[in-house]
Amino acid sequence: MQGEPSLRLSPTRRSCSKLDAMNQGVMKPDGGPVQTDVAIIGAGPVGLFAVFACGMVGLRTAVIDALPGLGGQCTALYPEKPIYDIPAHPEITGRGLIGALERQIAPFAPLIRLGERVVALRGAAGDFHLTTDKGAEIAARGVILAAGAGAFGPNRPPLPGLAAFEATGSVLYLVDDPERLRGKRVVIAGGGDSALDWALALRGVAASLTLVHRRGRFRALPAQEEELRRAAARGEIALRVPFQLAALHGASGRLEAVEIASLEGGREFLPADHLLAFFGLAADLGPIAQWGIEREGAQIPVDPARMETSRPGVFAIGDVALYPGKLKLILQGFSEAAVAARALYALIHPDRPLHQAYSTTTGIPPLPPTPFRSETEATA
Ligand SMILES: Cc1cc2nc3c(=O)[nH]c(=O)nc-3n(C[C@H](O)[C@H](O)[C@H](O)COP(=O)(O)OP(=O)(O)OC[C@H]3O[C@@H](n4cnc5c(N)ncnc54)[C@H](O)[C@@H]3O)c2cc1C
Repeated sequence: MQGEPSLRLSPTRRSCSKLDAMNQGVMKPDGGPVQTDVAIIGAGPVGLFAVFACGMVGLRTAVIDALPGLGGQCTALYPEKPIYDIPAHPEITGRGLIGALERQIAPFAPLIRLGERVVALRGAAGDFHLTTDKGAEIAARGVILAAGAGAFGPNRPPLPGLAAFEATGSVLYLVDDPERLRGKRVVIAGGGDSALDWALALRGVAASLTLVHRRGRFRALPAQEEELRRAAARGEIALRVPFQLAALHGASGRLEAVEIASLEGGREFLPADHLLAFFGLAADLGPIAQWGIEREGAQIPVDPARMETSRPGVFAIGDVALYPGKLKLILQGFSEAAVAARALYALIHPDRPLHQAYSTTTGIPPLPPTPFRSETEATA
């Protein structure tokens, strides 16, 4: 999962517009954490289908992902590649599959939190508390880990003092608002789709644009590379290839120049307000490894009859789950989501047996009334 092909957060990619508006699957008592039945860590294909599977048994969900968009590996690593082994879809792209899942889960109005990594899990079955790196808190009765190979994050260039420049936003790994770069001197580093997409998209926005890549060749669509070369010939983008990043210069985390080095050791200083670094993604199980859950390497053993981990109330599905016969395939993850949802229902409603019912009979059940009451309501 290391290296490029990189996270394709291209200027044309805007995700989950419908779901952005939802965020109704939970309630937030005044001052307290948002509350839901099931917190799902990971918005890859399997985490998204878990929203549907939980919804079909009347469980509300919240989904959290470190990436800024839905879809996990499908949209981050191969959005335009055709997948041929999704049942009833002879051929569907990674992006197409995630779009279809987005439509399928829409009736269940999950809370979606993107661009946030779950860093802590406290509590026990029936009363879990999750905390994200942005400080958000979610209370849930059960947890599903649909974490794939772990939270995706950018590969960071090994430059001295990098953290200070990241903290001020001088160094960026994704662009959520291109207007922020209007009139700025921008250096882009990388040779994949994202680097080229943004170099082309920021023409006429940035005051100056330089693309730095350590190889003479790019890993992008031929048409995209041709457009880049034409833009460079017109003087819209300065190309520095083959060069690599050598150092960042500035004060108090404010970037003033990016120092680059040629393979022969030649040095150049590029005046810059921002460095956009597109060196691909790395996945890291990270904090999940600290949650007292039995692991085998980067996978989590489960009982396949329930998909429950060694920590009661915490379930694992998709690529992160491990049991005899496990296949790291989307279709198997979908089935695991259905199994986990039923086990979670039994955990959350031990007094209400769940009968097998076909969706053709039940249709899409309406959202259940929230089982939670805020402090205010509880004392009223
Ligand atoms: C190039 C390529 C081609 C493939 N082709 C096929 C194919 O043809 N058919 C097929 O079935 N499979 C294919 N796969 C595999 C398939 O993509 C995976 O099996 C599938 O994505 C697993 O889904 P998932 O939801 O379990 O995990 P992922 O898609 O990996 O999603 C996990 C998500 O969890 C998030 N996450 C993890 N930890 C945290 C945390 N602590 N906080 C917040 N978020 C977190 C990550 O950021 C990530 O977005 C392919 C994979 C690749 C790389």
